[in-house]
Amino acid sequence: MADARPAAVLFDMDGTLVDSEKLWSISLSDYAVHRGGELGVATREAMVGSNMSTSMRMLLADLGLPADPANVADAADWVEKRSAELFRQGLPWRPGAREALAQVRALGVPCALVTSTIRSLAEIALDTLGRDSFDVTVCGDEVDGRNKPDPEPYLRAARLLDVDPRRCVAVEDSPTGVSAAVAAGCTVVAVPCEVPLEPGERRVLLSSLESFDVPALSALLPDAVA
Ligand SMILES: [Mg+2]
Repeated sequence: MADARPAAVLFDMDGTLVDSEKLWSISLSDYAVHRGGELGVATREAMVGSNMSTSMRMLLADLGLPADPANVADAADWVEKRSAELFRQGLPWRPGAREALAQVRALGVPCALVTSTIRSLAEIALDTLGRDSFDVTVCGDEVDGRNKPDPEPYLRAARLLDVDPRRCVAVEDSPTGVSAAVAAGCTVVAVPCEVPLEPGERRVLLSSLESFDVPALSALLPDAVA
């Protein structure tokens, strides 16, 4: 009988493993104030799960400022520095996230971090998450601009692990991230944080990672029911 376990578990970071979306809200709001404006609630929600340059274009547009490349780069630089300060003050775990990572490790299932956050900030977060928790890490500035909801970040992680993405479980908190993982062919554990998530194909909705259970998920993989 074929091994029914996932070939790998691929974790999103912000809002999934750590409660960093609230810290992003602070740095984005601080930038809006720095430019004499205020960040709109709808714009902030639309940014959840997006990469830095997409988020900066949304932010500048919301502030009525030109989203030309120089302005986007300046905004990204400002928000990165502010976020780094906040990340260094400590990143709170999401409920059950630490145990979910430990469970995957204990089962010997390969594990990846697949984040839209840039490498420099993800490295600060890895001080909390533990570098040993992951076999590979894919960051938002390492996918040639093909960020979530493009499937490329998940496909890249699967390539690096040399596994079939259709036999992987992805864990996500945002509509953008869920779309990326579904498009990559993964089975998705959707755990909402800041924004509600809708039911849909190849996804399991959990209210928290406290009920994350790899053996139970194995039954949902395509190969297990073939
Ligand atoms: Mg997320």
